[in-house]
Amino acid sequence: MFFTKLHKKNPFIKNISMAVILSLLLLPLSGCAVIKSATKANSKITRTGFAFDTVISITLYGTEDESVLDGCMELAEKYENLFSATIEGSDIWNINHSDGNSVSVDRETIELLQTALYYAELSQGAFDPALGTVIDLWDYNSEDPTVPEETDIESALEHIDYTDIQLDTDTLEVTLSDPELLVNLGAIAKGYIADRMRDYISSQNVSSAIINLGGNVYALGSKPDGSDFTVGVQKPFDSTGSAITSLSISDSSVVTSGPYERYFEQDGVIYHHILDPATGYPSDSGLLSVTILSTDSVDGDALSTTCFVLGEEKGLELIESLPDIEALFITSDYELVYTSGFPR
Ligand code: AMP
Ligand code: MG
Repeated sequence: MFFTKLHKKNPFIKNISMAVILSLLLLPLSGCAVIKSATKANSKITRTGFAFDTVISITLYGTEDESVLDGCMELAEKYENLFSATIEGSDIWNINHSDGNSVSVDRETIELLQTALYYAELSQGAFDPALGTVIDLWDYNSEDPTVPEETDIESALEHIDYTDIQLDTDTLEVTLSDPELLVNLGAIAKGYIADRMRDYISSQNVSSAIINLGGNVYALGSKPDGSDFTVGVQKPFDSTGSAITSLSISDSSVVTSGPYERYFEQDGVIYHHILDPATGYPSDSGLLSVTILSTDSVDGDALSTTCFVLGEEKGLELIESLPDIEALFITSDYELVYTSGFPR
């Protein structure tokens, strides 16, 4: 009724691991190492883990220093403990349980909230960090998700005004002027964290790495042979996770948002996880995915969700107005639409 029957091809894939959503097609390293320095130059270490409800994986090139991977995993844990809406005692959990009282938070939580509010303004609410009441109703992570009652959605929609999130950047306090509002940073946090991991890895003198946080991909530097990394963009709803196209990038972020990442089916209708704050229902913008190419992953993360909700026309217009950001839209008939400056 609200979300058109787009795809019924693969009813059994839901919660596809984001690790395959953007499959990394990294060319093998070549050359035989004969001396220690050459061995290092050709070395590659990878760590895979689970955070933010998804598979994450970090690959470092030209180093054998596992402690840098340890540091990345510590960062993942640190930020999950700040930004998760479900971990008791996180900054976001504390804000959401503050009953309208001011809450002291980490400087980085304020920083990310500021960025989230910027994108809420920029998109006139298509991207909305105050959407928690509606997101919780849909509960895509439960074993047997169902479509919420319409009356519950209407009630939840009364508490999604992002202008009710007040930030004090001096005292580092957050106050909700609507105590029933629930903050949720799920559409932007992974991008922010990818950027912080990039900064950390660089600070450890590693100049070539791939950070993949559930499909939020950041390519630090280029491959050790000097060529670009190749990042595949997944064909939406393809059960094998095959790529519909690939991008050559260095020192860039590639983030994709799409309904196939999380959804359930009820009465032959697909209900996915990217919600339209105007209706409280999955966004029916006629797109299958949006991929954003940007310097910082926080921008790519916010804008991929934003543009999915805005749809092709308004999304393209928004991205064309922003410097140094490009986008690839996949339409409902699998047409690829690029912004004018997209490198091809
Ligand atoms: P992403 O995968 O980055 O597109 O983010 C999608 C996730 O962000 C969903 O699973 C929800 O938790 C949340 N979300 C859904 N719709 C929106 C929206 N319009 N604005 C902000 N967050 C959203
Ligand atoms: Mg996002």
